[in-house]
Amino acid sequence: MSDVQKVLLVTGGSRGIGAAVCRLGAKAGYRVVVNYASNQTAANALVGEIKAGGGNAFAVKGDVGSEADILAIFEAVDRTYGRLDAFVNNAGIVDAKARVDEMSAARLERMMRINVVGSILCAREAVKRMSTRHGGKGGAIVNISSAAAVLGAPDNYVDYAASKGAIDTFTVGLAREVAAEGVRVNAVRPGIIDTDIHASGGQPDRVALIQDTLPMKRAGTADEVASAVLYLLSDAASYTTGAILNVSGGR
Ligand code: NAP
Repeated sequence: MSDVQKVLLVTGGSRGIGAAVCRLGAKAGYRVVVNYASNQTAANALVGEIKAGGGNAFAVKGDVGSEADILAIFEAVDRTYGRLDAFVNNAGIVDAKARVDEMSAARLERMMRINVVGSILCAREAVKRMSTRHGGKGGAIVNISSAAAVLGAPDNYVDYAASKGAIDTFTVGLAREVAAEGVRVNAVRPGIIDTDIHASGGQPDRVALIQDTLPMKRAGTADEVASAVLYLLSDAASYTTGAILNVSGGR
């Protein structure tokens, strides 16, 4: 297919939603760059799986909470593939369930550094490579927001919800800023998706506990989010920019 030479970078691409995007991207013909934070085994396993399926991929370690790491991730893409066509700002964290009146400054700074500052810095690097203003050939960015941006996540993690609200606003603003430069910027707002993120936030049984309260009576899968992301990256979405697509099962 026409995307055969295109390059897709996914932050936090080794597990969960990011890994589903990498798998589907490889199937769509992208060469895939799988960023991860620390779990090299999972990242290498995914790269091996993509290669075994006839795809082209490599893994690059880097914490999106560090500007130096972000620069190194994008330089690895430059060195290995020499182009960037599609970028998914997926890496993000939650934290332990807490009320705002219990949150420390250190928690808030980490949340905002990874989820907001990291995403904006990554988008900056993507735009520098994609925008015609910088000599690029255009491209597409998808930011991973959350239904929490709208719901607020009271009694769970209002800080996380606020970080995703920032991603929504950033998506609209950046989309308009680079719309005439060949770069489309959209976001997806997943609802409750069955991944390890809930265990990482200290709530391993969150999906089981909450699913009966969801409109579809089930959580979503990483694959269901990935197909929306791949659509927004594709030429089928060529007139779609600044859009925020709920993939939340009606939540
Ligand atoms: P996940 O299963 O916890 O996967 C986390 C991935 O991100 C792993 O590849 C991990 O690498 C990587 N990662 C974590 N911190 C990172 C950092 N600082 N720098 C670079 N990579 C980092 O997460 P997920 O559920 O797929 O979530 C992906 C995105 O969707 C997040 O932005 C999240 O907020 C959003 N989201 C998720 C849900 C949900 O219910 N799951 C709902 C709405 C929105 P290692 O393997 O090395 O740790």
